[in-house]
Amino acid sequence: MIESPITLLFSGLPVTADGFIPGISTVVLVRCDDRTVLFDTGPYAYRPILQGRLRKHGIDPASIDTVVLSHAHWDSAANADLFPNATIVLHERELAYAENTAAHDDQTPAYAGRVLRRLKLQTVSADTELSATMRIVELPGHTPGSIGLLVGDTLLAGDTVYCAADAAAGEVRSVPSADPRATESLKKALGLASVIYPGHDRPFRVGAKPTYLDDYAMRIRFFTDPEGFDEEIRIGAFAPKSFASWPSD
Ligand SMILES: [Zn+2]
Repeated sequence: MIESPITLLFSGLPVTADGFIPGISTVVLVRCDDRTVLFDTGPYAYRPILQGRLRKHGIDPASIDTVVLSHAHWDSAANADLFPNATIVLHERELAYAENTAAHDDQTPAYAGRVLRRLKLQTVSADTELSATMRIVELPGHTPGSIGLLVGDTLLAGDTVYCAADAAAGEVRSVPSADPRATESLKKALGLASVIYPGHDRPFRVGAKPTYLDDYAMRIRFFTDPEGFDEEIRIGAFAPKSFASWPSD
């Protein structure tokens, strides 16, 4: 059996909460063509876990040669500085935007551009071959310079394909963008690949009805009673559905 070049380090999940933004983003390791590439780095909360997971797969963070940032949002790009020997690949429009963010943008920190500028950067301005098997593709709309990474017929899509439900709908419903290119880019993504790794969902096979490649599982533990037991929520196909309804606020 040929080993897949793609390793899912963090599975994204389309989740909202009532007091914070979970930002559970997809992070993928790609090993092919003698390259060791990380696609997205997740939010800051992934930081210690990300390094541990890489090591578990036999990867020293110093051996990552390329980090592709789908875009500069806080939950995708926050750990780009962890890879001392990596070239950070992003779109030139995304870098320009990160250096001059809009005042109403609460997803791209105003310091993002300054942080990125301290790293070894390679900007792209069009669809670009990264290696024989890997191609950067432009997918603007979610942000001005959103990109994806096509590995064979598998697309690491970033938030252009936020979740499988958006793919099924053929439109961006989860995170509506004022930029009309967001829908064009979603359609471009769906036309490019047979398997998609969305920015905030599990990988799925493209078709009239998207089919997930895998299940999901998550445990959340609460230490809310100093004298009592910890509480734990388990979510996934193995657990019964916990909530019949969700409070509106
Ligand atoms: Zn985003």
